[in-house]
Amino acid sequence: MQSYYDKLIFDLSKPGRSGYSLPENTWGVTADALPEDLRRKTPAGLPQVSEPDVVRHYTNLSQMNFGVDTGFYPLGSCTMKYNPKINEQVASMPGFSALHPLQPEWTVQGALKLYYDLSRALSTLTGMSDFSLNQFAGAHGELTGLMIMRQYHRLRGDHGRTKVIVPDSAHGTNPASAAVCGLSVVQVKSLEDGTIDVGALKGLLDDSVAGIMMTNPNTLGLFETHVREIADLVHGCGGLLYYDGANMNALLGQVRPGDMGFDIMHLNLHKTFSTPHGGGGPGSGPVGVTSALAHCLPYPRVVRKNDGKYALLTDKDSCGRISGFMGNFGVLLKAYAYILMLGKQNVKNVGPYAVLAANYIKESLKDCYKLPIKGLCKHEFVFDGLAEDNGVTTLDVAKRLLDYGFHAPTIYFPLLFHQSMMIEPTETESKETLDAFIGVMRKIAEEAKSDPEMLRSAPHNTPVGRPDETSAATHPVLKYSDMQ
Ligand SMILES: *Cc1c(COP(=O)(O)O)cnc(C)c1O
Repeated sequence: MQSYYDKLIFDLSKPGRSGYSLPENTWGVTADALPEDLRRKTPAGLPQVSEPDVVRHYTNLSQMNFGVDTGFYPLGSCTMKYNPKINEQVASMPGFSALHPLQPEWTVQGALKLYYDLSRALSTLTGMSDFSLNQFAGAHGELTGLMIMRQYHRLRGDHGRTKVIVPDSAHGTNPASAAVCGLSVVQVKSLEDGTIDVGALKGLLDDSVAGIMMTNPNTLGLFETHVREIADLVHGCGGLLYYDGANMNALLGQVRPGDMGFDIMHLNLHKTFSTPHGGGGPGSGPVGVTSALAHCLPYPRVVRKNDGKYALLTDKDSCGRISGFMGNFGVLLKAYAYILMLGKQNVKNVGPYAVLAANYIKESLKDCYKLPIKGLCKHEFVFDGLAEDNGVTTLDVAKRLLDYGFHAPTIYFPLLFHQSMMIEPTETESKETLDAFIGVMRKIAEEAKSDPEMLRSAPHNTPVGRPDETSAATHPVLKYSDMQ
């Protein structure tokens, strides 16, 4: 039954009720100050509600949501780690939050220094020479990285390189970014063990290859041990290596993409570097390159001049401008605070703890869930549904987890398996939380045997159960129907 508080704010509307009072118009501004064609002819049709109505409406809505602040969120390939609250405090300091992007350079030296110092810290962590922080998301970073790749070949007069090789295990954004960049995508197969088939790769290499996009550990959470050989092969045919570093958690402070032979990479600050994400933003996908490619980075770049001042640089060889200003600056602040808070020593603990947590869950559950790729994983791993087939699907398990207060893992991705469940616990969860999750996963495996029907109709305790996800994406209802 719908409760009073489930009502939409338009249902609560009563003519004449109001939750605000505008300040007195002491400047003598009248409606004529606006041009006639911009003035509203009919009232806006906003709900007429009191302040408590508004507060309760939004507070109730917020409680229907699931977030990393409300519970464990083991979403593979998304790195939902805890977002330290000190990051928010730093990002809301007025010296940063009140800046205007069009302020003259000399008035924003502190912000430019922070941008510069963060890019240096990311270079240290990744082994790349230079970073641009102007990208708004991981996929935006990929597009920028591919534009840099294309620009590099162009500047050398090497115009025939139009192909990008992408492994079949790649994150979906990789081939999409290549296509948006106007490059054609060629897929390379994975072997049984989940790593790239180097033999098949050899057959694809020629002088039409712009480069390869890969990630290590790959999307199955496995470390590509042949990465140096792959680097030599791709470089040998004149191509470049792109590293998708959205999920660098396993490697942070341990191994660096620059040392593995990669030329270009992006990071997701809103995954590996603890800034909040979900719901579409705001994100940040910094792009790093080797020194041979630094001139192709997007403009403006922040440089430190000999006199110690910071300035914006537009390189004539740049691949172009890819964002209005300097990226999502608030996200940069949060990531910077996170890196400084960990420091050089503790940053090295992120990888081992994330890897330990993933392996602990995997080993504790592999008797009740199908583990297609055995052995040590990195920060995430994939189950292929329940070990015993009772007609209960991965979707059913995912929905039932919500009843127990856990967010579902990533499901039906990667596409290599039919019932994929991709689990990534991160380093920020305690052993008690991991044990509670393992306990519930085991319980659901039991329920799949004793009461499969109940699982097929889960979740039973959430405000929304099984929405039609396709219609929700293709025909979203964004407007209250009575207000058309
Ligand atoms: C999340 C992710 C991306 C895309 O990042 P967005 O910020 O969502 O655009 C790319 N690659 C991998 C491996 C990812 O996990």
